[in-house]
Amino acid sequence: MKDHFGREIDYLRVSVTDRCNLRCTYCMPEEGVPPLTHAQILRFSEILRICEAAADLGIHKVKVTGGEPLVRKGIVSLIHDLKQIPGIEQVTMTTNGILLGEMYEELAEAGLDAVTVSLDAVTPESYRRITRRDELGKVLASLETVKERGLIPCKINCVALPDTPDEELGAIAGFAREAPVHVRFIELMPLGHGSGIERLPEEACMKRLFPYTGLLVPFDGILGNGPARYYTAEGFRGKIGFISAISHAFCDSCNRLRLTSEGFLKSCLYYDTGVDLRPALEEGGKEALRAAVRAAVERKPLCHSFRKTENEEKRENTDRRDARQMSQIGG
Ligand code: SAM
Ligand code: SF4
Repeated sequence: MKDHFGREIDYLRVSVTDRCNLRCTYCMPEEGVPPLTHAQILRFSEILRICEAAADLGIHKVKVTGGEPLVRKGIVSLIHDLKQIPGIEQVTMTTNGILLGEMYEELAEAGLDAVTVSLDAVTPESYRRITRRDELGKVLASLETVKERGLIPCKINCVALPDTPDEELGAIAGFAREAPVHVRFIELMPLGHGSGIERLPEEACMKRLFPYTGLLVPFDGILGNGPARYYTAEGFRGKIGFISAISHAFCDSCNRLRLTSEGFLKSCLYYDTGVDLRPALEEGGKEALRAAVRAAVERKPLCHSFRKTENEEKRENTDRRDARQMSQIGG
């Protein structure tokens, strides 16, 4: 399915909950987000119907996200059922990793194709400062399970922050030395709670990594479905990647849609442009859902405006900046 600008849209991120067992400062308020009621949140049967309609239109890859997807009851059965949808070739997940170790075998059995673990720090102090919780031990234990069992390919995502000590960024990169795991450093986006927090630009992050990775040599091959640009480091089994929406915007190759846990299909991370799928779900037929998905794709903006001021935006565009938090969108 192509959008107005000729981009092939084949990837859907599905947020299954806005709840989380962490409170990352750049993503959620300390008290958490006001929880959605059961009636507000999409049922698994509704998520499956949406994914079926999207698959009919050319969505081949689904990423399950949150909030924290592993806190939603029955998530393993959703993965299993998503894998049965004709046309869906890949079902992956992004998680903070706390529950991954204990659910690993059942997720592998359900057919999860790959998992991304978010990890921004490796000392209890830094981890607590960023996530407001003491769960580092469980995440590291999960990563051990991932390494030992090797049933599900794994990547690590790290939001690089200016006050994260260099040696911790280096240690996170080091996961790619020890195992065939790709580690990606993400530039913080000024969205929701991330708005008031300083980001570490890619070039500065690379400089800080240099003592730990050595020279990073651009990797020409294609890895994954997304916007990461990869580098090889001598002696590393995995690659080091960067996802830098601000300093290296990748809107011209954006291939994705995002479904919130309430059923809003967003066509751009930044804008609130998209379609509420509830009416089409209630109508019942598959064609209504397909039409709604197509409408969201048609409205996909050309690019985000993270670097523009609000006044510049108002002059140039009628789309509005999304007021949702990242925990509600799913990254
Ligand atoms: N809880 C899961 C996790 O942390 O992987 C899934 C949801 S979380 C919203 C998905 C990803 O978005 C995480 O890697 C998180 O670090 C990232 N994220 C959250 N807020 C962000 C922001 N303002 N800029 C960049 N990445 C952000
Ligand atoms: Fe939770 Fe993920 Fe947001 Fe952290 S980034 S608060 S783990 S949803």
